[in-house]
Amino acid sequence: MAKEKCPICGSQVFYLKDPEDEYEIYEFELKEGSARFLEEQDECPPLQQDSHIYCNRCIWHGKLQNLG
Ligand SMILES: [Zn+2]
Repeated sequence: MAKEKCPICGSQVFYLKDPEDEYEIYEFELKEGSARFLEEQDECPPLQQDSHIYCNRCIWHGKLQNLG
């Protein structure tokens, strides 16, 4: 099973950027292999293994499948 935390700081909170609008972000927490979005939003983008995600606490970013 893939690790679910940031390889730099260990945070489990990340965010995705909206592909249509880089100022629109969607925060989520990784727990037990799935993502739980922190705010109820009408249209959360699909989170896939090759989604580009950003750590909420440090400068790490990369693909979900590269975590850990
Ligand atoms: Zn981090």
